Amino acid sequence: MGKALNIPEPEPDLSFCDVHGHVPWIEGTFKSDAWGKTLASADKQHADFKKAGGVFFITCSIDLNSAVEILKFVEKHRDVCYSCGMAPQTVTYTKTKAYESEFKQWLDIIEKNGEKIIAFGEIGLDFHHAKALGQRKRQIDELDRILSIVKGKKKPIVLHVRNAGPSDKDMGNPDHAFNQPDAAAREVVALLDKHGISPARVLFHCYSGPSSLNEELAKRGFFFSIPSSAFGFEKWFKVSTSLPLERIMTETDSPFQHPRSMEPINAPENARYAIAAIAHARGIDQKVVATTTLKNAKAFFKIP
Ligand SMILES: [Zn+2]
Repeated sequence: MGKALNIPEPEPDLSFCDVHGHVPWIEGTFKSDAWGKTLASADKQHADFKKAGGVFFITCSIDLNSAVEILKFVEKHRDVCYSCGMAPQTVTYTKTKAYESEFKQWLDIIEKNGEKIIAFGEIGLDFHHAKALGQRKRQIDELDRILSIVKGKKKPIVLHVRNAGPSDKDMGNPDHAFNQPDAAAREVVALLDKHGISPARVLFHCYSGPSSLNEELAKRGFFFSIPSSAFGFEKWFKVSTSLPLERIMTETDSPFQHPRSMEPINAPENARYAIAAIAHARGIDQKVVATTTLKNAKAFFKIP
């Protein structure tokens, strides 16, 4: 928690942005009702963000439903940008036939809302949610298809990459390379290379490493966003410490990745906790981190 990591609170007058969150969050998308009571409305989250010093935030869809809801929300707020995604979890939890129908309608949204879409994502691979080899291969095939469509659209790409953890082993194929702690990340990079997508337009959102990849990915020119949970959770703090400041941005992944809680109650205003964590790790001023990460995000997403 914040106390254990001993990170000072964010200063009160920072200007910052949140490059990745899910506002409004679609209740019932995942099977839980824990947040319905505690998560503020999307408009309240937006107002709180502005009050706290937020400049702009980017809200990301993960499937067709969230795409429809988010388009309505961004219509109302000029300082909220939209990243259109199809999450790997959606691929895994949607049966093939239903997914095909959903995917067609999702493509239609992309075609009809070209100028409203600032980026594509989140898209990627999640080997925690997909443990069996067949499920993992299906995610790879779908990401391949998505990349073949978005590569020509000249917009940033926002990646969700979750490698298999120790408890995510594919028990049917215990020796398969996909069980390695960097396998999902390596597969994603291989697909980006296959499609000739430059790392300069690719952001690893909620970057989770492993740290052994940091140097290699940074050298290639990829960007990374650090979640608010880096303030209170060692896993997220540690992996971010060796990333170069000129390649990082701040995010919340709201309603997830709260600075202090595992509950899905996070909101864009908490992106400033990522600033506190980044500054603490490097022993530099929070204002320098705020200015630099905001500048990085504006340049990457081409926000004036
Ligand atoms: Zn997300």
